[in-house]
Amino acid sequence: MINLFDLVKGVKQYLALFQQGKVDADRTCQHCGCHKIHRHGVYYRWATTIADHYRIPIQRYRCPSCGKTFSLLPNFIAPWQRFHTGLREKALRLRFEDGLSWREIARRVGKRNEASWVNVQLWGRRAIALLALLSEILLRELSRWRPGMDAT
Ligand SMILES: [Zn+2]
Repeated sequence: MINLFDLVKGVKQYLALFQQGKVDADRTCQHCGCHKIHRHGVYYRWATTIADHYRIPIQRYRCPSCGKTFSLLPNFIAPWQRFHTGLREKALRLRFEDGLSWREIARRVGKRNEASWVNVQLWGRRAIALLALLSEILLRELSRWRPGMDAT
């Protein structure tokens, strides 16, 4: 399981907080409710911004009661993604607000960080799929609140 650490504004601030020992999780296990989870090492992963690559430490935790482990990811990096969420958001804005092609977006946001047009196109597909899912959920909820209402 991965929890997001939401108090940071960027990679450099996160690195400084981590170095000061200020990156910490709620000490309650989300699996069993135990309040004694403890630190269980650190691993490193890459975070890629528009300008650079950073090797960032990720704090791991373990629950002594149920044995589950989890990691505390900073809010600027999504699970299993190496590109900063701000970078991905910028690419989506260039596509959906400014109408640029995927290749042009990759040229603009991926110049120094290896984000290819395939990467940015995939981010777009995922965003569209997520929006379709959210629309479906909203329409379903609307019809539950207002039976018989045609929300399409
Ligand atoms: Zn537990």
